[in-house]
Amino acid sequence: MKLKRRWNERTRLILTLELAVVLPAAALVILSALHLKQVQREHGFEAAIQREFGQILAISEKQINHRGYELVDDARNDFPGVHEACSDTLDRVLAARPYLAHVFLYDPERGLVFRSQPHRLKKDEQFHAESEELSNMMQKWLDPEYKDMLQSITKLDKRGIPYYAFPNGAPRGEKHLYQSVLMFAKPDGADGHTAIGGIIFDAEYLRDHFFPEMLETVMSRNLSEGQKAVMMVHPKSESYPLAASAGWDGGVPEVERNMDYVFPGLTLAIKTPGTTLEAIGQRFVRTSFMILGGLSLLLAGGLLLTYRNVSKEMALARLKSDFVSNVSHELRTPLSLIRLYAETLEMGRLNSQEKYQEYYCIIRKESERLSALINNILDFSRIEAGRKEYDFRDTDMRELVRNTLESYRYQIEQHGFTFEEKIDPVPPMRVDREAMARSIVNLVNNALKYSQDRKYIGVNLYRENGAVKLEVIDHGIGIPSQEQQKIFEKFYRVGDPLVHNTKGSGLGLSLVRHIVQAHGGEVIVDSAPGQGSKFTITLPVNAAAIASNAATA
Ligand code: ADP
Repeated sequence: MKLKRRWNERTRLILTLELAVVLPAAALVILSALHLKQVQREHGFEAAIQREFGQILAISEKQINHRGYELVDDARNDFPGVHEACSDTLDRVLAARPYLAHVFLYDPERGLVFRSQPHRLKKDEQFHAESEELSNMMQKWLDPEYKDMLQSITKLDKRGIPYYAFPNGAPRGEKHLYQSVLMFAKPDGADGHTAIGGIIFDAEYLRDHFFPEMLETVMSRNLSEGQKAVMMVHPKSESYPLAASAGWDGGVPEVERNMDYVFPGLTLAIKTPGTTLEAIGQRFVRTSFMILGGLSLLLAGGLLLTYRNVSKEMALARLKSDFVSNVSHELRTPLSLIRLYAETLEMGRLNSQEKYQEYYCIIRKESERLSALINNILDFSRIEAGRKEYDFRDTDMRELVRNTLESYRYQIEQHGFTFEEKIDPVPPMRVDREAMARSIVNLVNNALKYSQDRKYIGVNLYRENGAVKLEVIDHGIGIPSQEQQKIFEKFYRVGDPLVHNTKGSGLGLSLVRHIVQAHGGEVIVDSAPGQGSKFTITLPVNAAAIASNAATA
C-alpha cells in the first residue's frame, strides 16, 4: 500500500516535470534545431548578408553617381555656347578641372572642337595618342550619327537621365585604363541650333583619386557599426580591381553590382575581409548548434537537479511523517506502562516488597527511556535551529565511558547480552560530558535494539595515533553497505522489516554524528548484514589539554 503510494507520488512528480518543463523545453530545442537546419540547408544566413550587401552596393552606387554628376554638371555649366566654341573657351573648362582629360563640342555646321588637358599633352605621349585617337573617333562617329545621338540624348533626358555615357579604354602600354565619356545636348538659344557637348574623365584621376576616396566615403557612410566589409570597383570584363578600399584582400567578391549612368562598364563589388560568407554562415550554424547543445545540457542538468531535489524533499517529508508516527509510538508505550504500573501500585494490592521494588524499577526505567527520547528530540531541534551549545570541559574519558555503561549494564545483561568492555587509559580530553554520554547511550541502545539471536555488545576505548577511539560492537542484524552513509542522516531508518518492527525515531545516529563533529572528530560504521556492526568514534586528542594536565601532575 505504502509502496504504491510512493510509486504514485513519483509518477506524479515525473509527469509534472515532463509536462511543465521537459515538453516545452524539448519543443523549443527541437524547433530551434529544425530552424537552424533549415537555415543551413537554404544558406539563409549567407542570403541575409548578401541582401544587406546588395542594399549597401545600391546606395553606394547612387552616392558615387551623385558625386560624378556634381563634377560633370560643374563642367557643363562652364561650357561655351555653340558660337563661342574654340580652343580657348574649352581649355578654360579643362584648366579649372583636373579630373577631366578631354572635352569636346560638336555641331554639324562647325564640326568638332576637341580639347585635351594641355599640360599633359605636352609631356605625356600616351596621353597625346589617346587624345588623337579619341578626337578622330568622335569626328568619325558624330558626323553620321549626330541626329540619332541627339535623339538618344533627348530621350534619356526626358527619363531624367541627364547624360549619355559610355566607357572608353585609354591605352596605357599593353593595357587600357578605364575612363567614361559623358555627352549632353547644348542648345543655342539664338538660332535653335543644338550642339553635342561631351566630357571625358581622366583615367588616372578616376583610378587614383575619385574611386579610392569615394569607396572610403561610401563605406564609412553605409556600413553599420561593427559590420565588416571591404569594397572595390573593377571593369565589368576584368576581375582585378581598378580601385579598392583599404583592407581589400583579393578573393572572390560576395556581391557585385554593375554601375550605370556615370560610370557604365564598371562593377562595384563587396565582400567580407579575410573570410567568405559561406565560412561565416557555417561558423554561425556551428556555434548556434553548440549553444543549443550547451543549453540542452544545462536544461537536462537543471531538470536532473530539480528532480533529485524534489525527490529528496519528498523523501524527507515521508521520513518526517514516519518520524511523527514512530515518536508517538515510542512515547505511548512507556507512558502506558508507567500508567499501568503506577495504577497497580496505587491500589496497594501487591503482596511482596520485591514486587513493589520491581514495579518502581520498571517505572524508573521507562521514565528514563522517555527522558532519553525527549532529550534526543530536544537536542535535535536545537541543532536544527543552530542553537545547540556545547560545554567543553577537561574530562577523564575512561570514567565517563565507565559511568555511562554502568547504568546500562544491568539492562544489557537482563536482556541476555554478553557484555565486554576494554577500557585503556587515555589522556584527558576536553569534551561536553552530557553530549558525549548521550552519543555512547545512543550507540549502545542501537546495539541492543538491532541484535536478534547473537546477543553481544562490546565497548572498547583506546588510544591510537594521536586520537582516542571508542568502539561499540554488536553481532546483530548488520547494515547493508549502500545504507551505511544514509543512516547518519536525520530521520533515516533502514527499510528492513526487522528495523521496522523496532521502535526508533531515526534521530540517534544523526545526533551522534553532530556531537562527534562538534568535537572535531568523526564517526564511522563497519558492518555487514547478518554479521553485526562496529561503530567507531574517533576524537583527536587535545594537545593543549594533555600539556596542561602533565604540568599540574
Ligand atoms: P533509530 O531511532 O531508528 O534507531 P538511529 O539514527 O539511531 O535511529 O539509527 C538509524 C538506523 O540505522 C536505524 O533505524 C537502523 O536501521 C540502523 N542502525 C543503527 N544502529 C544499528 C546497529 N547497531 N545495527 C543495525 N542497524 C543499525
